[in-house]
Amino acid sequence: MSPTENINLKLEPFGGNIAEKYTADSNRYNDMIYRRCGRSGVLLPAISLGLWHNFGTIDSFSNFIQIAHKAFDAGITHFDLANNYGPVYGSAEENFGRILKHGLGAYRDELIISTKAGYDMWAGPYGNLGSRKYLMASLDQSLKRMGLDYVDIFYSHRPDPETPFEETMGALADIVRQGKALYVGISNYDAEQTQRALEILKEHRVPCLIHQARYSMFDRWTEPELLPLLKNEGVGMIAFSPLAQGLLSDKYLRGIPENSRAARSISLTKNQITPEILEKIGQLNQIASGRGQTLAEMALAWLLRNEYVTSVLIGASSVPQLLDNLKALENTQFSVGELDKIECILK
Ligand code: NDP
Repeated sequence: MSPTENINLKLEPFGGNIAEKYTADSNRYNDMIYRRCGRSGVLLPAISLGLWHNFGTIDSFSNFIQIAHKAFDAGITHFDLANNYGPVYGSAEENFGRILKHGLGAYRDELIISTKAGYDMWAGPYGNLGSRKYLMASLDQSLKRMGLDYVDIFYSHRPDPETPFEETMGALADIVRQGKALYVGISNYDAEQTQRALEILKEHRVPCLIHQARYSMFDRWTEPELLPLLKNEGVGMIAFSPLAQGLLSDKYLRGIPENSRAARSISLTKNQITPEILEKIGQLNQIASGRGQTLAEMALAWLLRNEYVTSVLIGASSVPQLLDNLKALENTQFSVGELDKIECILK
């Protein structure tokens, strides 16, 4: 199978209110909060948008182009992709390329676009993990799909247990020297692996800009070691799946909605929605109501109360969800009483 053989895009014609080329809202920088990414020169929006789900061939172009436009209009300057986001693999990048061509690309210098390689992308021994061969080829493919000369951040998407870290990090450093990425990051590396990766990148004089890790009220593996390490090393931290793929919202409290991720996807399954989880969600929802927030807003605010979390990397399947999530920024302060109650529930 060739690298792109599995890409079969459903090209939906432009229509309705997306017939016109996009022009950004002139007030787009009024409300967003920007945070410094570690000890770098880069500021990221406190809320960034990820294209893992909802931007593939099975999704509606008119829906996701509106999500992307609304995001940028609200000051979300950072869009996160990976080679295999879709489905099908590569289609989120192709679709993002179409969104760029449809007007967003005129703002290229206001955008931080990231992509990654690490998970399965094409058949054979060079289509995944961390070899120089895979990373270099994958980034070239990603640039073509998006119609870009460079990405802002290129990630090693996961550590490769068999390829020496020197090879993976050396490839990242060379990618920066070639001008195909401005910065590099790592994702899903534990604290020890992160320490090793950072040391090698330092030797190459290409610092690691950012670590992308799963972090939410329901998944706090980063707290004991990784977060303190990143803080100490001056590396930024972007939290992915901050809503635990939608569990940290009120949507599952009254059953499983037909179009929800739990109903449609394999990354969140119905049997993950146990009575115990629903009990916790219900209790958290009550605390959120007491704060005048939805649970989704509170879950994002809870992460952002830690100033060292540079950005929360959300997904959204609709514009109303995106707008709800943006409201998290209106209150990221928690009383000691609220934090104690939340801890009790999470334990
Ligand atoms: P979230 O935890 O934010 O989950 C997003 C999903 O939650 C949406 O698709 C929607 O689900 C639901 N949702 C969002 N907002 C609301 C709301 N206000 N009310 C109710 N439901 C809501 O993040 P993702 O898991 O999507 O991950 C975000 C990004 O992180 C990805 O796009 C990707 O860029 C990155 N990521 C990186 C990984 C890595 O290995 N580095 C792994 C996973 C993600 P529904 O479809 O049911 O409406």
